[in-house]
Amino acid sequence: MGKRILVVDDAAFMRMMIKDILTKNDYEVVGEAADGAQAVEKYSELKPDLVTMDITMPEMDGIAALKAIKGNDPSATIIMCSAMGQQAMVIDAIQAGAKDFIVKPFQADRVIEAIDKALS
Ligand SMILES: [Mg+2]
Repeated sequence: MGKRILVVDDAAFMRMMIKDILTKNDYEVVGEAADGAQAVEKYSELKPDLVTMDITMPEMDGIAALKAIKGNDPSATIIMCSAMGQQAMVIDAIQAGAKDFIVKPFQADRVIEAIDKALS
């Protein structure tokens, strides 16, 4: 059975890209969210094995969502999706409990490597 992943990004094509990489590598995308508030809700509903979390999103950003999810479930496994120039936010996220981060534009190898490692 593939591990269950929740994909969070405000850009639909980004979610599609990650979903494509994951499903080709035997992961199951059990849900998607387009902002942080939705991510928190979907996390408690779906209890996925891992979350890929975009940083810049409307309503609630990825850092706030990470903190909220970790507050509810300290064992949550979350990988941040960052863009160039977001190092400070990535450090903030890692300190708040994010397992790792992947940088856009995504390279399939790096995405899978980070997720395999985070789940091992
Ligand atoms: Mg975004």
